[in-house]
Amino acid sequence: MRSLSKRLNLGSLILALALLSTVVALANTLLASYRVQRDQLVSSTLEANRVYANKLAETTQNFVLSSQQQLAYTAMLLGREGMQDRRAQDEATRLQLQTNSFNSILIVDHTGLVLATSPQTLHLKGDTLRSEGNRIALERRQPMVSDPYDSATGRLLVAMSHPVFDVQGRYRGYVSGTIYLRQRSILQSLLGTHYYRDGSYLYVVDRNGRLLYHVDPERVGGYAPGNRVIDAVSRGQRGSAQVNNSRGVSMLAGYAPVPATGWGVVAQRPTAATLQPLSQVMSSIIWRAIPLGVLSLLVTWWFARRISLPLWQLARNVQEGDTGRAISDVGGIRAWYFEVAQLKQAVLYSFTALQDRIGTLNRASRTDPLTGLLNRRGLQQALETWKAQGQSFAILALDIDRFKIINDQHGHAVGDQVISHIAEQMRRYSRDGDVLCRNGGEEFLMLLPTTDADDALLIAERLRQRIADQVLDPVGHVSVSVGVAHYPTFDADAEQALRMADKALYMAKEQGRNRSVTYPYR
Ligand code: GH3
Ligand code: MG
Ligand code: MG
Repeated sequence: MRSLSKRLNLGSLILALALLSTVVALANTLLASYRVQRDQLVSSTLEANRVYANKLAETTQNFVLSSQQQLAYTAMLLGREGMQDRRAQDEATRLQLQTNSFNSILIVDHTGLVLATSPQTLHLKGDTLRSEGNRIALERRQPMVSDPYDSATGRLLVAMSHPVFDVQGRYRGYVSGTIYLRQRSILQSLLGTHYYRDGSYLYVVDRNGRLLYHVDPERVGGYAPGNRVIDAVSRGQRGSAQVNNSRGVSMLAGYAPVPATGWGVVAQRPTAATLQPLSQVMSSIIWRAIPLGVLSLLVTWWFARRISLPLWQLARNVQEGDTGRAISDVGGIRAWYFEVAQLKQAVLYSFTALQDRIGTLNRASRTDPLTGLLNRRGLQQALETWKAQGQSFAILALDIDRFKIINDQHGHAVGDQVISHIAEQMRRYSRDGDVLCRNGGEEFLMLLPTTDADDALLIAERLRQRIADQVLDPVGHVSVSVGVAHYPTFDADAEQALRMADKALYMAKEQGRNRSVTYPYR
């Protein structure tokens, strides 16, 4: 029993199996649905950002084109009417105030001399510009948008310029409108209002990948090396991709170029922010699944117990030492499913077979093979039982008279037949409950329960008479002598009572045989 209970039992195994399969199935379902939904969220966010970047790139493109048209109009006026001091100043002021596209306007002659500025507080009028932007504008003499550069006033800016040609077609200088990158400008107005609250943001790079606009003003003018979205949009490509930003945060980015300037617009959202609601959904699914999961485990546990209980009972009963009790206990086990019913049948069958075999062996060990009466051991057992029950009884001790002569005259085999015959007579004239025993040789004992000495003598006489009356072939008449005693008449124990019967038998022999004598010799 001990060794059985130390191991895992069937109930726990079934429960563990159910738990395992439930958890695996749930995890599998959750994982699969998580993946599907994650892919969907990611692709729809990528698509939204792609569309959004396209829209903003288009807006920026339109802005740049219309700004260039404004510069072109001013350049046309100045070419026609000349770039005198006052005229240039008026035009600069009008352009800046009317369009609101530029942070400042510069009108510069063909030597790089600043003729007019708006606002005038720039204090550049009369200076000759030395900046890279100025040099390129003078050299190229065509409408252009500069790369970002640090201006004469120390600001990082982008300049759009348009050349001025007079009516004779001579180059007279250029009109330039600047957009400050680190101060408030039209770019902020165009782009800045568009970012979301959940960590989404956008930025604009020039054709070299330099940041022109970023929600974080600190980043403006800087680079983000190794960012493949910036590489792609700088090459004029459009699309969407999942990338890590400069801080290593995974982003879902859409990007589109602004063809007029070679700039690129990137709109992006942190992957984690996109997936946040999904994690919430998953955890709420798990929490909701728990009560039902617990319930189904309880049901499984209940079934597991019901499945394992009969097996456990069978195992316990098989170890039972008392086969008789085991058979009745196993019979009472509720075998409610096929395998246990089979097992129960098999156990019952082998127990019954075992009991039969034990019974046969027991009987054999207690029985005299020649007569089928009890032997001494059988007698002893019967006596023990009666002693324990306090049973009173009479004793008849029988001995065949002159048996040696029968043996001598007719041989041992006939002697044996006579012994069997006497045993048969004893059986015939006894009652149920009498104990009949061959005590060895041609001597017998009969124990008659609840029979007093007088009745016992009557019974002994009747039996003796019957035997004496019969004629046996080839022996003729055979007689027996009988000694009778009673237990517990003489305050003796059962063994002493047996010896008393023996003494009475001896007396019967003494008195001439073929008679019954009761102790103490009547
Ligand atoms: P009595 O009892 O009348 O005094 O004379 P008896 O000839 O019967 O004497 P006793 O009881 O001493 O002899 C018993 C004989 O029975 C001795 C033995 O050879 C014989 N005998 C004992 N057991 C068996 C047996 O199983 N079969 C046969 N055939 N003879 C047996
Ligand atoms: Mg004898
Ligand atoms: Mg004898």
